[in-house]
Amino acid sequence: MNAEGFAAWVRHAADLVSADAERLTRLDAAIGDGDHGHNLDRGFRAAVDALPEDAPPGRVLVAAGRAIVSKTGGASGPLYGTALRRAGKALGDAQDVDAAGLGGALRAALDGVQDLGKAAEGDKTMVDALAPAVAAYEAALAGGSDLPGCVRAAAEAAARGADDTVPMQARKGRASYLGPRSVGHLDPGASSTALLLRGLADVTG
Ligand code: ADP
Ligand code: MG
Ligand code: MG
Repeated sequence: MNAEGFAAWVRHAADLVSADAERLTRLDAAIGDGDHGHNLDRGFRAAVDALPEDAPPGRVLVAAGRAIVSKTGGASGPLYGTALRRAGKALGDAQDVDAAGLGGALRAALDGVQDLGKAAEGDKTMVDALAPAVAAYEAALAGGSDLPGCVRAAAEAAARGADDTVPMQARKGRASYLGPRSVGHLDPGASSTALLLRGLADVTG
């Protein structure tokens, strides 16, 4: 996957987020403050505007991450921005990223989210989509899948992981203020993580 592939993902992700912004915001209105879709829409538009020309994949992701941190409000901006910056740094100067390289970047993204947000699996956050996605990616890689196959496995696991947040009680973020009343709702950040990984599967084929 080359720099144009990563830039194509950022542009496609921005389109998906924009099309889904109302739904994500409604999810956040149920257990948070009702801004998640609009936060991400602003952030991904800024990321598209910040895409560098003639830069390796790592710099594409770092630039997108920086733009998201600076333009996205709420908890999710710093978390997604950190995820992208850490993923970009993990790619180093590679011009063409293979399946193992992309797996390392996804693992670095998860580590970045957890270093910053301190959420564990089961806390009803984006980690509940991202952690199983990274695990599924690595399992597919170990099983000999190519890059598109690994990404598909990750996207499917993220979708299941997001669905699994419904019965959870939130222990991190604004939803945790609701205590047991957070049970029975899909976590907005887990849902957007699943969307972003579906977008990656769309562009990798
Ligand atoms: P805010 O809650 O500040 O308005 P958003 O609505 O944009 O921010 O994002 C909310 C989402 O952020 C939640 O649904 C959850 O998935 C994620 N989130 C919140 N806190 C954390 C955390 N500490 N670690 C991981 N994800 C978190
Ligand atoms: Mg919110
Ligand atoms: Mg907010």
